[in-house]
Amino acid sequence: MRIILPQDVKNIIECLNNCGHEAYAVGGCVRDSVLGKTPSDWDITTSAKPEEVKDIFSKTFDTGIEHGTVTVLMNHVGYEVTTYRIDGEYEDGRHPKQVEFTASLEEDLKRRDFTINAMAYNEREGIIDLFGGMDDLDHGIIRCVGEPEERFGEDALRMLRALRFAAQLDFDIDTKTYDAIVKLAPTIEKVSKERIMVELVKTLVSDHPDKMRVVSQCGLGKYFLPELDVMFATPQNNIHHCYNVGEHTMHALLASPKDKVLRLTMLLHDVGKPKAKTTDSMGVDHFKMHPQMGADMAVTILRRLKFDNDTIGRVKRLILWHDDRPALNEKSVRKAVVRFGEEAFPDIFAVKRADTMAQSEVGRQEKLDYIDEFQRIYEDIIAKGQCVSKKTMAINGKDVLDLGVPQGKMVGQVLDELFKEVVSDSDLNDREYLLNEARRIVENSGGK
Ligand code: ATP
Ligand code: MG
Repeated sequence: MRIILPQDVKNIIECLNNCGHEAYAVGGCVRDSVLGKTPSDWDITTSAKPEEVKDIFSKTFDTGIEHGTVTVLMNHVGYEVTTYRIDGEYEDGRHPKQVEFTASLEEDLKRRDFTINAMAYNEREGIIDLFGGMDDLDHGIIRCVGEPEERFGEDALRMLRALRFAAQLDFDIDTKTYDAIVKLAPTIEKVSKERIMVELVKTLVSDHPDKMRVVSQCGLGKYFLPELDVMFATPQNNIHHCYNVGEHTMHALLASPKDKVLRLTMLLHDVGKPKAKTTDSMGVDHFKMHPQMGADMAVTILRRLKFDNDTIGRVKRLILWHDDRPALNEKSVRKAVVRFGEEAFPDIFAVKRADTMAQSEVGRQEKLDYIDEFQRIYEDIIAKGQCVSKKTMAINGKDVLDLGVPQGKMVGQVLDELFKEVVSDSDLNDREYLLNEARRIVENSGGK
C-alpha cells in the first residue's frame, strides 16, 4: 500500500534520514490516508532526540519539548515531530509521570491507543503495522493496542476516544475493548472536563453523532452527562412522536448540520422534557415549558463541561426558542426576531428542521412548510432592511437627549417604546415621525 505524503513531510523524513535517524509519518494521518480521507495534520515520529531535531531544521518551536515534540515549520506549515517514546507510569489516569525516549519504533507504537492509530509509514519501508491495524481498518473495528483494561487504566480518556473514533469512522468497538469500557467507566471521573469536552465535540460533529447512544449504553455517559440516560428512559406518548426523548435526540442530531453549536443544541434541546413531563387522563404525555427548563439545564451542563460563554449563550438561546412558532406574517416574525434575539437567526431554522425530522410523520410536511415560510418571511424582512434592532432605528439615544430629556432611565424608556412601535409597523421607522413621537412620550410622562 502506497500513501501519498505531502512534499514537506517527505522532506522532513528525508532530512532526518540523511542525518542517520529513522523517521515515519504516524498515527491519525496514516489511518486517514489508508481510508482515503484527507488527514487533518501530519505527525512524524523519529529516533532523533528533540535537540537533534532542532539542530537539523532551521525553523522550529518547542511545542511539547518535555514530551519530545518539536514543531518543524516548512513553508509556513507546522509539523509535529516527536521522538520515539515510552510513556511512563500514569500517576492519576491523566498524565504520564515522565516520558522516556527510546530507540525502538515498536515501543513508540505500543504506547498508542488503538491499532488503527498505531501504524507508521515512510516511502522506503511502506506501512509498519505491528498490531493488526490494517485488518481492523478493513473490518471497521476499534481495538486497543495490548490489554484494554491496562490501557484504559493508564489513561481513562481513551475510553471516550474509542467512541469518538467509532463515531467519526462508523466503526464498531471490539468486544474485549468494549467490555473494558463498561468495567472501567467510573474511572472517567479522573479525567479533566476539558479533555472530555474535546472528545464530546468531536463525537457530536462527526458523521455518526448518534454514537452518543453507545456513550450512554456503555455507562460512560452516567459520569459526565447523566441527563442523557434519563432522556433515553423517558417515553413520549404523543402523536407527534415515535421515539423516547433519547432516541428522538439521536435522530435530531443526525438531521442537523455538522456544526458545534447546532449539534450541542440538538443534543440538549429536549433535556428539559423528563422534568416537564405530565400525562393527561387519556394517557397522553405533555411537556409544557420544556424549552425554558431545558435552556436552564443546558447552561448548567455546558458550564460543568467547561464550554465557553459564547457557546453556552448561543445554545441556550436556540433551546429556549426551538419550539416557538410565530404567526406567518411580517409583524409576528419581526416580533419573533426581537424575542429570540437576532443571534438566533438563521440557526433556529436548522434547529427546527432537525427537530421536525426526528418526530413522527404526523403533519411533517405541514411542519416543514411552516418552517420554510417562516424563513422566507424572515429573509424578506432582512432584505427589505426592516428594523428588528434598536441599532437600526432611525433615531438613537443622543437624539432623545437632544430633545432635552435628562441623562438617565427615561432615555432608555423612550427608545424602548419607540422600538415597540417600529417593530409593529416598519413604516414608522422614520426620523421625523420618531422625533415627534419621542416629544409626545416625554410630554405625556410629565418629563419624569
Ligand atoms: P485527529 O484526526 O482527531 O487528529 P488523531 O489520531 O491524529 O486524530 P490525535 O489526538 O491527534 O488523534 O493523536 C495523534 C496520535 O497520538 C493518535 O493517532 C494516537 O496514536 C496517539 N494518541 C493520542 N492520544 C492518545 C492517548 N490518550 N493515548 C494513547 N495514544 C494517543
Ligand atoms: Mg491528530
